[in-house]
Amino acid sequence: MTDFNITEDFPKNEMEFSKRFATEKACYEYLFRAKWPKGFICPNCEHKSYWISSKYIHICTRCESHFSLTAGTIMHDTKKPITYWFKAMWWFTTRKSGVNAINLQDLLGFSYVTAWSWLQKLRRCTIRNDREKLSGKVEVDEFYIGGQKPGKRGRGSAGKRIVVAAVERKSRKIGRIRLQVIDDCSSKSLTAFIDQNVEDGSQVVTDGWKGYDLDQNRYDHHQVFLSKSKDKYSALSGVHLVASLVKRLILGTFQGRVDSKYLQNYLDEYVFRFNRRTSSSVGKKFMRIIQQAVSSVKITCAQIKSDINPDFSMAN
Ligand SMILES: [Zn+2]
Repeated sequence: MTDFNITEDFPKNEMEFSKRFATEKACYEYLFRAKWPKGFICPNCEHKSYWISSKYIHICTRCESHFSLTAGTIMHDTKKPITYWFKAMWWFTTRKSGVNAINLQDLLGFSYVTAWSWLQKLRRCTIRNDREKLSGKVEVDEFYIGGQKPGKRGRGSAGKRIVVAAVERKSRKIGRIRLQVIDDCSSKSLTAFIDQNVEDGSQVVTDGWKGYDLDQNRYDHHQVFLSKSKDKYSALSGVHLVASLVKRLILGTFQGRVDSKYLQNYLDEYVFRFNRRTSSSVGKKFMRIIQQAVSSVKITCAQIKSDINPDFSMAN
């Protein structure tokens, strides 16, 4: 069976990228390999031969089913050339702190609204559905985004969103992280986050909040109580550092103007960059986004429509 896997095949730098993905054909071929790493297999009848229409639709020669490489992805029904999407994905993944809508507007000559909606879509591709859970020693804590004063713990307050963070600690170093917007600090919300993101058998360090009601059979749970505030600080220093970095990003880059509806998208992008901060290959991140865009990210029309409503919604 021919192996089309792109995992080891990606541009190493901007020159290679520009040369390689200059045409629609080259981009579609790469999307094809990302979608069908073992070659085309008709999802309808499992036939392996196909022909390609002028619009890059793959048509099974046996049952004549049509397959679009972009249907159901962030590029669904796009009117722009695929080369533009590739350029946006390259910039999105290779610029150290990402790009904002104004950068993308300048780079591609779009309207601000289009650039903004593309970025929201790209952010949706940063999370792999089958990613491995955090393991070893993991610190967990919550923090608030938005609003002026800290609210009462355990419930959300107007203008504020609660974010729960999990941070792997490897001796003094920080490993991978996870961030999620939650509705409240109840045991239900917090334990669901930990169950989804932390491997069984891990050591979980939290403060003494009653919401951290973890299953002792699954986790080695260390609770640090407020009375020993010095311990609390050092025992949770990794997660506190990540919380302050995220707050700085939201306040700095976006002047605190992140529509709470889209906060999770920004957090996902942050996690993507943070967890790959030591990766030496810029092209690998780009390749991952391409894989995500064609395979695991299925975006509904409603989601796409909800993305086409940028900052105006915040003004209202
Ligand atoms: Zn078929």
